[in-house]
Amino acid sequence: MAADFLRQILTERLAAVEERISRAAARAGRARRDITLLSVTKTVSARVARVLAELGVRDLAENRPQELWRKAGEVPADVHWHLIGHLQRNKIERTVPLVRMIHSVDSLRLLAALEEQGRPLDVLLEVNASGEESKGGFSPDEVIGLAESVTGLRQVRVCGLMTMAALEDDAEKCRPTFVRLRQLRDRLRQELGSATALEHLSMGMSNDFETAIEEGATLIRLGTLLVGGLPGEEQG
Ligand SMILES: *Cc1c(COP(=O)(O)O)cnc(C)c1O
Repeated sequence: MAADFLRQILTERLAAVEERISRAAARAGRARRDITLLSVTKTVSARVARVLAELGVRDLAENRPQELWRKAGEVPADVHWHLIGHLQRNKIERTVPLVRMIHSVDSLRLLAALEEQGRPLDVLLEVNASGEESKGGFSPDEVIGLAESVTGLRQVRVCGLMTMAALEDDAEKCRPTFVRLRQLRDRLRQELGSATALEHLSMGMSNDFETAIEEGATLIRLGTLLVGGLPGEEQG
């Protein structure tokens, strides 16, 4: 696909998404600047990631560490990378220096290993708030018991929670999952005794991001809507 054409398609898609984000924020009485759009590039080439960065998308996300390593070498260094998929402990050392945030801390073992690697790091705890068996992450019951583990950390800063809602045609069906995540955050916050802790809720994907924004999402993760079906992108 010609570079100009790719740029034009992405420009139009970004404008449409931006409009929808702004409207959802307005409906919820929230400021647009309190919501960060992450473009999930897992299905597309580094070329698309570079164009997104040129168009002003500063936050890019990958769900596989190796893909993140590879693309991080091929896009401008001022991009903020987010890891949104499972991190094996043997990949910590190479991943941490490259990322702005890890959204997918799904066990206490991983949390401890991230603390041990010795660099300051922002993370989110992944919660299985939809209760699907196939999904990883902490169960809602487990989250409430995590305050003690979070308080003891020196290098790792737990700055919120992340979830994936079930795949639904009707985004309204995802709302209870987003409400649950926010309530869990509020309870954990109370246990931590800090009104400002856990400021981030990473929730909302292509099919449900407006509902997520209405329920307090600060980080939304959009793949398909921005980069799906681009001609010449075989994975997309
Ligand atoms: C792929 C992925 C997304 C993006 O999903 P779309 O429906 O394509 O927007 C968001 N979050 C996670 C964790 C993902 O793996």
